[in-house]
Amino acid sequence: MSNEIPYKIYLEESEIPTSWYNIRSDMKNKPAPLLNPGTGQPLTLEELSPIFCEELCKQELDNDTKYIPIPDEIIDFYKMYRPAPLVRAYFLEKALDTPAKIYYKFEGNNTSGSHKLNSAIAQAYYAKKQGLKGVTTETGAGQWGTALSMACVYFGLDCKVYMVKISYEQKPFRREVMRVYGADVTPSPSDTTNIGRKILEEFPGTTGSLGCAISEAVEVATQNEGYRYVLGSVLNQVLLHQSIIGLESKAAMDKYGIKPDIIIGCAGGGSNLGGLIAPFMGEKLRGEADYDIVAVEPASCPSFTRGKFAYDFCDTGMICPLAKMYTLGSGFIPSANHAGGLRFHGMSTILSQLYHDGYMRAVSAKQTDVFEAAELFARSEGTLPAPESSHAIKAAIDEALKCKETGEEKTILFGLTGTGYFDLKGYQSFNDGEMTDYIPTDEELEKGFASLPQVAE
Ligand SMILES: *Cc1c(COP(=O)(O)O)cnc(C)c1O
Repeated sequence: MSNEIPYKIYLEESEIPTSWYNIRSDMKNKPAPLLNPGTGQPLTLEELSPIFCEELCKQELDNDTKYIPIPDEIIDFYKMYRPAPLVRAYFLEKALDTPAKIYYKFEGNNTSGSHKLNSAIAQAYYAKKQGLKGVTTETGAGQWGTALSMACVYFGLDCKVYMVKISYEQKPFRREVMRVYGADVTPSPSDTTNIGRKILEEFPGTTGSLGCAISEAVEVATQNEGYRYVLGSVLNQVLLHQSIIGLESKAAMDKYGIKPDIIIGCAGGGSNLGGLIAPFMGEKLRGEADYDIVAVEPASCPSFTRGKFAYDFCDTGMICPLAKMYTLGSGFIPSANHAGGLRFHGMSTILSQLYHDGYMRAVSAKQTDVFEAAELFARSEGTLPAPESSHAIKAAIDEALKCKETGEEKTILFGLTGTGYFDLKGYQSFNDGEMTDYIPTDEELEKGFASLPQVAE
């Protein structure tokens, strides 16, 4: 182990960033605005306010402010689990026998086990500040629901979580963690909402989807006085809050004069990737530096690599605003054998625009390869990674092995978004040799595309 660069680079508590960085401020082509599905017109603050908290609506629509100060109350909470370490993966490098230098930013060091807490605490704070009673949300694998429960109980807010049914059944312990933090957890689709009842009637036995859980959560928020809906990914405001990941990573790297060549993140709705790359992408957009930026998605839910760049609904019930993004269609539901999370049909509008404009690339990975990468990582670096994060590990390993062939000493930075303690069903099927890969056919994807709304642009 070289002693020039420590295994873990920690910032001081006083070095936690005091502002979030808004990547949109440096984009020449701004992300397309959210549209009102009824009128086809860009959504105004007034139209967004019944769904989201006011301050968050402002952040959602703000394409210009470069730095948005982080309120002290949020920084106080961040101190419970931040700064997050930047780790030099010496042990993984050794296992791969690569000349590449691999770093990862570890965001799993809190009970929710993921980066989602960075935005959950911000969203709960603004809801509380507005005097709301509570918030509703959806959760897939459960990290977001857990993070939001932790944030809500801290500020004394009620928290109603609609959890994708297959996860609810596969991860009962995740549900109990949320209940420890006082959340009310319902499997989705459920008979507690109009849209849930409709979906159950149309697709009896469905294992649910994020899009469907979103519809239920939005319905409950808009029909209950003093409630708003909050979302853990995809939205501009979430990428803004997650910029803390990239700002800390960059500060830690700058301390030792390290400059990454390749920056890799897994992509579900795009929040951790958008956050990790934010300050680096800012430099790239301003022409100050260049980085090879890579999104990694599951081959079973390939929004970037096989999706269409089009206006689409964010939810199955088609009640949410339309967003222009790389999408598989709101009707798309990944195969039930997919264990690795990242199952949202769409993608952040910011990342979609950056990808469309050629500022980043995307690759997809099969879940058996992802779990193999996860196993190698766990055995070499010690930490049991979340399957979602393991998509980034897989791509980082691939890049490091390329370096081994060419002899290049590239510096690779990837986001280790969380831990996999609640994903042991997936690990079990991998360990038992029972895990399979299901890659949707073009015909199956066409079905999802057929659900795309017609929008005149
Ligand atoms: C939610 C989650 C993701 C994916 O969401 P993004 O918004 O794409 O970041 C990745 N890793 C973990 C651990 C998660 O909980």
